[in-house]
Amino acid sequence: MSKLAELNTDDLKDLYRELILDHARNPRNFGPLRSATHRARGANPLCGDTLELYLELDADEVVRAARFEGTGCAISLASASLLTETVAGLPRHLALQWFEQVTASLTGGRSEFDLGKLMALQGVREFPARVKCATLPWHTMRSAFQQQATTATTTTE
Ligand code: ZN
Repeated sequence: MSKLAELNTDDLKDLYRELILDHARNPRNFGPLRSATHRARGANPLCGDTLELYLELDADEVVRAARFEGTGCAISLASASLLTETVAGLPRHLALQWFEQVTASLTGGRSEFDLGKLMALQGVREFPARVKCATLPWHTMRSAFQQQATTATTTTE
């Protein structure tokens, strides 16, 4: 039995809350990326979250580095921080599959992936207004891959 499985639901919620707060207070991979090959800006006007996401892809389309800057609520910062940890080292197509799985899991669907730490974001499903905070960095990543000049926004979902 895994350590996680021994925890009851309240313990799990506490654990997830701690993980979110930890990533919000100390976001991983925070700051500009000079070597970025792809970048996009994301905004969630409903909450005031904004972020700039930077990706460095190599010739084989593997994400060599992912970093972000921005301001926002704890959920959006934690989601962006977790995103950079998740997609670093992944080929582009797999990173985009993560986009699909994570956004599906947050908007009422089921993920076919073992979401690992990203399970911590699932708590927002009870709060529809916060779902956009959690999905914003992922939409921004997709925009960056598409090299869209426009700002990613969550309002048209
Ligand atoms: Zn937010």
